[in-house]
Amino acid sequence: GRRVTERIAVARPTFSVEFFPPKNAAGEVELWQAIRRLEALDPAFVSVTYGAGGSSRDRTIRAVERIATETTLVPMAHLTVVSHSVAQLRHVIGSYAAAGVPNVLAVRGDPPGDPLGEWVPHPEGLQYASELVELLRELGDFCVGVAAFPYGHPRSPDPESDLARLVAKFRAGADFGITQLFFEPEGYLRLRDRLAAAGCTAPVLPGIMPLLSVRTLQRAPELSGAPVPPELTAELERYADDPAAFRAAGMEATARLCARLLDEGVPVLHFYTLNRSGATTELVRMLGLAPATAAAAAVSG
Ligand code: FAD
Repeated sequence: GRRVTERIAVARPTFSVEFFPPKNAAGEVELWQAIRRLEALDPAFVSVTYGAGGSSRDRTIRAVERIATETTLVPMAHLTVVSHSVAQLRHVIGSYAAAGVPNVLAVRGDPPGDPLGEWVPHPEGLQYASELVELLRELGDFCVGVAAFPYGHPRSPDPESDLARLVAKFRAGADFGITQLFFEPEGYLRLRDRLAAAGCTAPVLPGIMPLLSVRTLQRAPELSGAPVPPELTAELERYADDPAAFRAAGMEATARLCARLLDEGVPVLHFYTLNRSGATTELVRMLGLAPATAAAAAVSG
């Protein structure tokens, strides 16, 4: 199947990866090296982000089109509401369809410049991601994903309204969700329980950012709103001056989180790769997620 939902529904747990469209030739080489290496591990799908407001529109379209035509991978394109008229959104959605990409992650996007600044709608545009889900549903047979926030979206006044808005995106027709990154399983598991209690059965895939450096440990909670448990900070802080030791310990902690999520029955782990293949490949091997033939090929190659 070429649809994300079909790829999620396979029996064995698997993984997916997220890329961003590169800005220059060197970035393009790095991205395609990562794509080729990860292709061998048979991810469920690969997604390409959309620069808020359309700053990457053509590069996102080009990347997903090339993935669709030149690889065996199932691509998904992100799309944002911010700074777009409905006509422009329709145009981009048409380009995705023309590129043979039925999978779209519908997000709102943050105001360009200041992510927490005032959100001003385009005069002929939409307000919320749920409206983009509706537009996609209206325009064609798309497989639609939405963003979910285990610790609530920074703009949500309280957890109840945050959950209600997420539920509204599923009621509008979203097929699955992907979460913001997080570092302890509890917030994700709580969100999953609350969705189930609200009658939402669509899968919500956990977004995983491998803890590779002190910088990630310090910046990620700030950017995501997801807390780092004090034990984990204590465990990793002692390697602050030794990047290699930090990376090893951070990867071990990330693998622990992933293993717990797999124990809890998540079908797919979604990895934020920053356009590299190394950490994802290691985690996929540590967790035994690659098909046997691919794992053997990756080890010998
Ligand atoms: P929405 O679901 O619209 O929610 C935004 C806020 O509005 C929330 O507080 C919500 O509770 C509230 N709200 C929703 N509906 C209503 C309503 N009817 N009335 C009142 N309040 C309401 N950004 C990019 O620019 N490009 C990307 O490619 C991208 N990919 C992402 C992928 C993932 C997996 C995630 C988790 C985020 C991604 N983002 C991306 C970031 C995202 O655009 C921002 O986090 C954005 O601020 C929220 O988007 P959303 O789709 O969740 O918004």
